[in-house]
Amino acid sequence: MAASETPTEGGDRAGVLLYYKYAPVPDLPSLVRFYDSNCRSLALLGRVRIAPDGVNVTVGGRMPSLEKHIAAVKSMILFEGTDFKLASCDHPSDDRIARECGFTSLSIRVVKELVTFRSDPLLDSPKVCNAGRHLSAVEFHSVLHDAGNNLESQAQNQFVLLDARNLYETRIGKFQATNVETLDPKIRQYSDLPSWIDEHSEKLHGKHILMYCTGGIRCETASAYIRSKGAGFENVFQLFGGIQRYLEQFPDGGYFKGKNFVFDHRISVGNQDDVISSCLLCGSSFDDYSSRCRCNYCRMLVLVCYDCQAIAGRKYVCELCQRNGKGSEPMMLQENELHEELSSDSLEATEITNATFPGVTTPTQTHKTYGKLTTI
Ligand SMILES: [Zn+2]
Ligand SMILES: [Zn+2]
Repeated sequence: MAASETPTEGGDRAGVLLYYKYAPVPDLPSLVRFYDSNCRSLALLGRVRIAPDGVNVTVGGRMPSLEKHIAAVKSMILFEGTDFKLASCDHPSDDRIARECGFTSLSIRVVKELVTFRSDPLLDSPKVCNAGRHLSAVEFHSVLHDAGNNLESQAQNQFVLLDARNLYETRIGKFQATNVETLDPKIRQYSDLPSWIDEHSEKLHGKHILMYCTGGIRCETASAYIRSKGAGFENVFQLFGGIQRYLEQFPDGGYFKGKNFVFDHRISVGNQDDVISSCLLCGSSFDDYSSRCRCNYCRMLVLVCYDCQAIAGRKYVCELCQRNGKGSEPMMLQENELHEELSSDSLEATEITNATFPGVTTPTQTHKTYGKLTTI
């Protein structure tokens, strides 16, 4: 697992940086102080989560500032081998989306664990040191290529692809390869994944399991969980750097069809012409989440085309709520209720009190707009 090259792009362009590192953090208070001081001095906005088992960061700012941040982080031994995913992009044009994605303030929090894999706090999260083997984008691609070209019937059912993301992400993009079944758990949130794995273990047993997610972090814990099931669950592989790195390596999409859902103002990344999903209401080809339409019952993102959005008074009922018979009863949630994305790539985690880690002071949040700051 080598540290990846960081593209150097100067100028005033905006950028988004995403990275995580699983490693014991020896001094939580000093790391909090570092992020507070470094991110503020560079005018970076976004989310930093620091846990005893590692760090997870998604920040935005000007490209030169993000490069300076990477250089400062790289100088710490704790971050040896970290994959820094830096992408230049346009400045956020929609303040509402930037706010929803947490890109209008700087939030640094100390959390109990980097990703909340188990909703039940009494159950231990799997140990990341037992995670599946990392495959680079090129290795992942060649495994899928070989599976598609292997005519031996014995080899044909050897591999399965497992999407570790949520339904609204998989809707607009997923891996598809000949001779390899893509397992889509259709979950609302990451903490639903362990139950899905338990209930569908026969689909995974004895297979070579190729896992993927947006940036890689969700596969670390989920692959360790599958491997913890013992005999028949040893061969778990995870796409290193996630779909994000794969699409950098294969800009035409390779075996990834559609677009990569991202948790920042870019909304999705990938070939604009590759649309694999459709409008919830009329079924026309559609995959634009910029309107942020949500299910009236569970608040999960849904896809509603522009024509259907224009029709007033229609209820949106997501696939999962439809399956549970919702849609004919009164709505339970307020229209304007804010829903936080429950994905680990959006850095959701359990916040803990400072009392658990004496001496750790979580900095106060700054509330500034990302767009204005980047023009300073
Ligand atoms: Zn429609
Ligand atoms: Zn729903």
